[in-house]
Amino acid sequence: SEAQVARRAATDRGETYFHPNLIPTHKRLPIAFTHGQGVWLYDEKGRKYIDLLAGIAVDSLGHAHPRLAGAIADQAHKLIHVSNNFHIAIQERLAEQLARLSRMDKVFFANSGAEANEAAIKLARLHGHRKGIDRPRIVVMEKAFHGRTLATLWAGGNTKIQAGFGPPVDGFVRVPLGDVAAIERALAEDPGIVAVLLEVVQGEGGVNLLAPRVMKEIEALCAANGLLLMLDEVQTGIGRTGRFLAFQHADVAPDVVTLAKGLGGGVPIGACLVAAKAVDLFGVGAHGSTFGGNPLACAAATAVLDVIEEDDLCGNARVVGQYMAERLRERLAGPGVAEVRGLGLLIGIELEQPCPDLMRHALDAGVVLSVTADKVVRLVPPLTITRDEADYAMDRLVPVIKSAARTS
Ligand code: PMP
Repeated sequence: SEAQVARRAATDRGETYFHPNLIPTHKRLPIAFTHGQGVWLYDEKGRKYIDLLAGIAVDSLGHAHPRLAGAIADQAHKLIHVSNNFHIAIQERLAEQLARLSRMDKVFFANSGAEANEAAIKLARLHGHRKGIDRPRIVVMEKAFHGRTLATLWAGGNTKIQAGFGPPVDGFVRVPLGDVAAIERALAEDPGIVAVLLEVVQGEGGVNLLAPRVMKEIEALCAANGLLLMLDEVQTGIGRTGRFLAFQHADVAPDVVTLAKGLGGGVPIGACLVAAKAVDLFGVGAHGSTFGGNPLACAAATAVLDVIEEDDLCGNARVVGQYMAERLRERLAGPGVAEVRGLGLLIGIELEQPCPDLMRHALDAGVVLSVTADKVVRLVPPLTITRDEADYAMDRLVPVIKSAARTS
């Protein structure tokens, strides 16, 4: 088509191209990937790249994993979709597996991270109303990211992406990340607070970690005040940080946990897990979704979880993640690089200055990655990445980052 010719030409010139029939919400880099294999991605010209983005932590098993592809194909041949008005055996199996791995009790299936968080926000409001609170409010963190639907947009703390979409959704009280004293002050001022919602490691906000001790303190505050402890593990869950869920590093017991991204290994599925104070808030008819937990998505997710368990991919994320962070700390020590931090295979390299072109330069060097919060290079490779592959990636990545650090 005419558009295809125009895109090819723009791509060859290294320019951004906007297709006439796509709303231009994304500034697309001038590369089109045609297929992938493990940690490798291949573009239209046959060039290979090592994938440290994995669709932003989605492709947990890497690309074209035979178990995942097989499970999706088998399910597609049997039954792709059926209404949630019927029993769905594969959905029940996935719910059991998630409950066991997360030590949560029950699950509501959605289709994305934002949607899972919408369910969490609705749960918090129900919890508040049950306590006789008319206008329930949720404590959220600065720099948080919970999605781009209206409620999750205002649960998040990124004013750039909120701009133009007012009026804000009501019911959120923002505090600095992990500032327990600020949460205590908010509680003293506002008897309407019913929940705390946070990411154990902020992904979009720049790979910002919360110390296990702080998690424990927030858990204790929630327990003492009857608040739901709600953890957004959309980016940190499913083995990413070296445990099945990131909160397991801190050994806390949340009431609500949200998942998406890596859960389906690339097939859209979200989940809102509940336990303790949140376990019986949703009854029949309280919430719903047409596609949520459909057989195809559940077949994909069970295959992902089976492989994660059988191949101990949490262990791999822990070991290779730690190796990468240590090597990067050594190799990037010096001016321009402020810090290398992370947990498992969620690694952030904070530069001293913004680096808008770094993603492009990395692509030129055959590495797919992302830059978040202006100056944090984020690495979220597939959980299957080996030490050799990590070395290959770092050999290409380190010079790109050093050069960005020098020129900025
Ligand atoms: N929460 C967190 C922590 C995320 O990182 C993201 C996606 N970056 C979301 C929620 C939103 O997920 P989705 O794009 O699937 O709606």
